[in-house]
Amino acid sequence: MAQRITYRRRLSYNTRSNRTRVVKTPGGKLNLQYEKKPASAPRCGDCGEKLAGVISLRPREYAQVSKTKKSVSRAYGGSRCAHCVRNRVVRAFLIEEQKIVKKVLKSQTEKK
Ligand SMILES: [Zn+2]
Repeated sequence: MAQRITYRRRLSYNTRSNRTRVVKTPGGKLNLQYEKKPASAPRCGDCGEKLAGVISLRPREYAQVSKTKKSVSRAYGGSRCAHCVRNRVVRAFLIEEQKIVKKVLKSQTEKK
């Protein structure tokens, strides 16, 4: 008959934070190993896509890895995806162009 195994900590409910898996020890016994909660990938703040080039870790683990693993070298890198950054740049450019057009039109009407 299979060996019965019990939780090794005091928490005795099958909750999300009490996930375990069964391992066989070198002595041939079955034992429980506790698993950490799965990490979710960081996502773009605008569209919600998973960010490429940024590793997914549990929150505290981000303090232990270097900055290059948490962002990409671009404006808004590690916060917004490339498509959203492009849209922002294009939008800002068009707004600035619109302002210049308005200024030019205004100066032309004043001359007349
Ligand atoms: Zn995005």
